[in-house]
Amino acid sequence: MNEVIDFGKSILEIQSEIRDKFSPAIVAREFISRKESNDYMERQVRGLPFLTASDIDIDWDLFNFGLQRLNLLCKHRIEKPVKIKAIQSQEEKQVLIHNMLNRDSTNSMNSTNESSTSRGSRVFKGGGVSPLPLIIQLAFTPFMEKYANLLIEAERKSRLPRSGGGSGGRKYYKETNWLRGICPICGRDPFIAKIEPETGKRYLHCCLCRTEWAFKRIGCPFCGNIEQKKLRFFYVDENSPYRVDVCDECKKYIKTVDTRKSEDRGQKTENRKQKTENRKPIKDRVLFIDYVTTTYLDKLAQDEGFYSPDTGLLEL
Ligand SMILES: [Zn+2]
Ligand SMILES: [Zn+2]
Repeated sequence: MNEVIDFGKSILEIQSEIRDKFSPAIVAREFISRKESNDYMERQVRGLPFLTASDIDIDWDLFNFGLQRLNLLCKHRIEKPVKIKAIQSQEEKQVLIHNMLNRDSTNSMNSTNESSTSRGSRVFKGGGVSPLPLIIQLAFTPFMEKYANLLIEAERKSRLPRSGGGSGGRKYYKETNWLRGICPICGRDPFIAKIEPETGKRYLHCCLCRTEWAFKRIGCPFCGNIEQKKLRFFYVDENSPYRVDVCDECKKYIKTVDTRKSEDRGQKTENRKQKTENRKPIKDRVLFIDYVTTTYLDKLAQDEGFYSPDTGLLEL
């Protein structure tokens, strides 16, 4: 288990190094003026995410540097490592951005071994799936996270004078009425959910830009089903903060961290290091680590015939 935690942390370290080195040309001011525009309001009503492909200005040398480092890191965990080429041609770059932002794309860069769901998401199913799209996604994240941070930070600042004290550093999208099953910033499906301790509210987490946003307590983020008898959850240990929420309507699942449990008690069988991880204050909690350390739940869900749009990491 410690090995998996270390692996997850190494991924995060590379990503944060890349993120800190990246300075996008767009400035926060531009985001705010756009947010206040009618065009954006309209997009929000239609359920379209904030960022569009034309916003994304990647430093490709930095991207390729991160890609190689992530590939090296993942190599020893993959049965059949792949040789990763740097993304160079203009066409490749465009396709990559398009695919990352718009998962309904049929023009996939790596369409082999992938199947489509009703919503067109790319699904990585078990058994010899190429890790390439996943490593590319991991390399793309620092850039998206930077954009998301820029937007959240700009919103927080612009709010200060009006609300006298501001939002206290809370992430912007917690406070809107978005309440949709896709990321409000990049449009990606959520990869893990969290229930907050004080309020018991549910938040979804984006694996691409690492944004968190509020979602209804009862309801499937993937198909919108709210019929209670078609929504269930199960766990391995009732004292553990980890559980799986499944939807009988679309057969998808999402892992959930119920931090009301993790704040007080970790799993008895866990070692000290992991307990400390579990007891971290909510704002510092790294859901990515929760995700990579709970593969037993994915297995359980998959054995029951459920799947998740973002199980690529489990292949590593
Ligand atoms: Zn996102
Ligand atoms: Zn569903």
